[in-house]
Amino acid sequence: MQVSVRDLQRRSPRDMPDSPTPRLDCDCLLGMILHKPRSWLAAHDDELLTAPQLAAYEACTARRRTGLPVAYITGHKEFFGLDFAVTQDVLIPKPDTELLAEQAIAAISEYTRRGGVRGAGSIRIADICTGSGCIVISVLSRFSAQCGIKAAASDISPAAIETARQNARRLVPQHDIAFITGSLLDWNEPRQTFDIILSNPPYVPSHTARQLLADGRGEPLLALDGGTDGLTVIRKLIPQAAASLAGGGFFLIETGEYNSAETAALLSQAGFISVTTYTDLGGMPRVIRAQKP
Ligand code: GLN
Repeated sequence: MQVSVRDLQRRSPRDMPDSPTPRLDCDCLLGMILHKPRSWLAAHDDELLTAPQLAAYEACTARRRTGLPVAYITGHKEFFGLDFAVTQDVLIPKPDTELLAEQAIAAISEYTRRGGVRGAGSIRIADICTGSGCIVISVLSRFSAQCGIKAAASDISPAAIETARQNARRLVPQHDIAFITGSLLDWNEPRQTFDIILSNPPYVPSHTARQLLADGRGEPLLALDGGTDGLTVIRKLIPQAAASLAGGGFFLIETGEYNSAETAALLSQAGFISVTTYTDLGGMPRVIRAQKP
């Protein structure tokens, strides 16, 4: 029996019963298999699949039923209007994290306006725990290469760094990013100073991280697990960021809604000023900006 795009769309809630978005998942998977944009499917839902295409689709829905997100099946996730390649070595970029990219862009503009820069074209940013590179790449995508922003991106995972490097090459080829495999800012010796430091570190309490992964989402525990209270990595990163920032420079960090207040307190204790918390689209405290005096 011949099966059409529409047939698969109709039966998607049965094919992917645990998915909150079966129809969308179906369209993303079909887009990949048919090599068409999702918009094409709407006008071609009577298109019939070949037997190999149907077999490929069924293999994908079987993987989806294990809990694996569509992004890991297609190998792509849109973030900040850009198409990022993702593997299971990196977290899937989340909409909440777009707030960090937006605030980073605002901070760079503010820093440049205030004249905190050592001459035009020498602003330096670092993205710590870069993963797919989604934060630093999104930020750079809004500045022309002539701005001369120098960026460094680091991650403890060599496989993550490779993914980030490939994303940068494809999405912001004209920009200069140094990719570094290393833990937090341990690699920054002899110390270079940065004007802006960004990070979405692992901040989920170990117990919660393990619970989250029980649904088969397949994200790297390393990227989520922030120790017993979720603050182990943040506690180490804050003094390193303070030591690596130029005076007047900004540190922007994503946190959990459950440890945002404590992170803000740690930042103040470490001597940061103007500690400001920003809430995400769901109204949760998500990003903190702090300034080095
Ligand atoms: N909550 C975010 C995610 O699931 C980030 C988690 C983290 O520890 N950085 O992607």
